[in-house]
Amino acid sequence: MYYISQPNLLQLLAQLKEDYQVFVPVKSGEQRYYKEYTDAAGDIVIGEVRPFEPLKAFFVRAREIVAEDFKSDIPARTSKPLAIVGVKACDLKGFKIQDFVFSDHDYQDPFYINNRQTNLIISADCTLAIKTCFCLALGLKPYPQEDFDLNLSPIETGFLVEVGSEKGQLIINKFYSLFENAGKDLINVKDEQRFRVIKEVENNIKAEDIPQQDEFTGMIERNYEAKLWEEEAKTCVECGACNTICPTCHCFLLYDQKHRKRSSRLRIWDSCMLKDFARVAGGANPRPKLWMRLRNRFEKKFDFFPKVARIYACTGCGRCIWACPAKIDIRRVLKKLTENV
Ligand code: SF4
Ligand code: SF4
Repeated sequence: MYYISQPNLLQLLAQLKEDYQVFVPVKSGEQRYYKEYTDAAGDIVIGEVRPFEPLKAFFVRAREIVAEDFKSDIPARTSKPLAIVGVKACDLKGFKIQDFVFSDHDYQDPFYINNRQTNLIISADCTLAIKTCFCLALGLKPYPQEDFDLNLSPIETGFLVEVGSEKGQLIINKFYSLFENAGKDLINVKDEQRFRVIKEVENNIKAEDIPQQDEFTGMIERNYEAKLWEEEAKTCVECGACNTICPTCHCFLLYDQKHRKRSSRLRIWDSCMLKDFARVAGGANPRPKLWMRLRNRFEKKFDFFPKVARIYACTGCGRCIWACPAKIDIRRVLKKLTENV
């Protein structure tokens, strides 16, 4: 375990800019979002809680060109690989789903794989929980345990640094003068902070009476014909925000576009809540009703993924609760699903 002071971390970020496009979380009002690191360090928040946008936005862009002029060559990328700093545990779990979809199958997505191989992930512990955080119910801790290159645990004067990969160790070796070995007293401060944030998330779970993932087995099958889908879907305005904001949702749409003499194939994020999502040629639609699409969203996360990948496709990040204009709260739906045994 290493220690890096705040000024040295800024020096490290400045050095990393040589090889990477560096993104850091910054705060504006009550919201946190990623911003490219320049030299303005004032508004960076490495700790606190997850940013507004999900990590997937860096790996599968909301809109990107995937082919040009119907050639099979991969369009060249000119930008440097990404170094993303301050990534939280709930977003790292999103990798498990995104990896399963985009790289662990016969069909391998070259854009995703390239991004995953070249990027540097410097994650960070949460130092507080907001009311919508319920990661513990999904078996996660509010601090990263895997899938990072380096992890930062913010403490008063700087950060404890844990190495999570060979790539992370190479960064430590290259910029060794910026780091020190961490003493036991600092490690105790980190452990106490982690314990405090766990308590905050536990309090959220208690206050909202959120079920634990052990109780999820079979809940979708048991409730497949239940009235709750229609009841919950009543207020939905079919905006798709719950999908686009979610770190595990991954569905996309391909379309072609002509611009002057060039033809491009583009990929954009799609949403299973939208009526045309599953519509096929001839107009047939297996999920014509909105409540069927809401049920499908939960079925995919809590029945399909545990069956095919042994994981629930939810990280407890709470973004969909915050984003839904219809106040459809995943915590309430999970409670209804587990109560109905
Ligand atoms: S379903 Fe909601 S709480 Fe779960 S990972 Fe997606 S946005 Fe976060
Ligand atoms: S965010 Fe809410 S209103 Fe929008 S599609 Fe999802 S459930 Fe419906």
